[in-house]
Amino acid sequence: MRFFALWNPFVFVGYDIASKQQIKETVRELYSSKPHLTATIGFSFAGLSAALSGAVWTGAVATLIVLACMMFRVWMEHHFRARSSEDVGEKWVRLFVFGSLLSGFGWGLSGALLLYGTSAETQAITMGIACAILQGAAGRAYMTPGTALINISLVIGQMSIGAFAEGNYIYVPAFLLYFTFLASFIQQMVDNRLRQLNAEQTAERLFREITEKNELLRIANERLATKAYEDPLTGLANRRKFDLALAESLAASNDTGSTISLMMIDVDHFKAFNDTYGHQSGDECLQLIARAIGSSLAGRDSLVARYGGEEFVVIVRGEAPDMAIAIAERICLAVRLTSLDSLPSAPPRQTISIGLVSSRAGTPETREAMLAAADAALYKAKKGGRNRVCVHRGPCPGQQQEQDTVVPFDAAKQA
Ligand code: GH3
Ligand code: MG
Ligand code: MG
Repeated sequence: MRFFALWNPFVFVGYDIASKQQIKETVRELYSSKPHLTATIGFSFAGLSAALSGAVWTGAVATLIVLACMMFRVWMEHHFRARSSEDVGEKWVRLFVFGSLLSGFGWGLSGALLLYGTSAETQAITMGIACAILQGAAGRAYMTPGTALINISLVIGQMSIGAFAEGNYIYVPAFLLYFTFLASFIQQMVDNRLRQLNAEQTAERLFREITEKNELLRIANERLATKAYEDPLTGLANRRKFDLALAESLAASNDTGSTISLMMIDVDHFKAFNDTYGHQSGDECLQLIARAIGSSLAGRDSLVARYGGEEFVVIVRGEAPDMAIAIAERICLAVRLTSLDSLPSAPPRQTISIGLVSSRAGTPETREAMLAAADAALYKAKKGGRNRVCVHRGPCPGQQQEQDTVVPFDAAKQA
């Protein structure tokens, strides 16, 4: 801190960078009147010594002055503690400056009186007490260095006059030396305090930055986790998500006995589509088909996923097998009716084939059995001419009973 700024009585070290709590605690400490009680007792002791050595009036007046100063500081502290708001704004700093300078003037006057026309013992006691008080003031009020320095100057200045008038010339350079020591002590304390506040600010800023970065990282991780279960082309769930959902749905179905249905969907003649209209159109066609499947399931407890290539899978939970067939037919129809006009070379409409299987009430199913059954039904739908739903009836492969026939449904007839 610059030397001249150091002398400004209204400079409060770190007022602009310290936290509100730090400022409040410091101002509360500055307002404490306890150190003034100690100073008053000390000067009263010197006053008593003066009175005992014959300078009764000097001792009495010096004691009364420090007593009056202390009373004022007690009132100041009371006033500060009784303030209505928690705020410790500049008004309180100004009052502190005024009180502190008044104390400096009072102590200096008292000290000067006790150094003039008193016994050598009284003068020695006065000097000792004054030095102790000034040291305490420097160590305590360094947060307002200007106030502390003016306060110390007032004490030292008046006491120097008292000593000089008494003929104790040696006291004057000693006081000057002591003042220089106290000023550099205050400067050191101020620099340390500023370093400490700056370090705390840096630590707080770094902590805030780390918290913000952690939050960003958490959001990025969440997004990554979502992406890990998403098919990038269609935005549907991917195979990983489907595997988990099927396992969970089967476990719930086996526990509660509720029905789940699985559809295996394959786009018809898609290789030819790609060869004729290009891979780009093929991609866009898959997106349109994905949307058509999704909207056919709106409001159902279901999951649509891209199983791979031009194959999709659907899990429908809690619907009776007949309702699952109706839903599959609706999906088949919705895809067939989807307009592909938006694609660059407007191909004809595209069809899909669906293999459907529903779990049977009371018969636990495995993931593999359900998938094999749906796959077998899909195979039959393809073999039967495509653009249709085939339902696998009877037990899934691996079960003991004999397999029912697959009943095809020709969605083209419905269109
Ligand atoms: P089928 O009716 O028997 O299913 O005939 P298909 O031509 O659809 O069957 P095939 O398995 O021979 O061909 C599937 C084609 O799907 C091959 C591949 O070019 C295409 N395909 C797979 N994944 C994608 C994709 O992500 N984008 C595009 N554009 N085409 C894909
Ligand atoms: Mg295929
Ligand atoms: Mg195909």
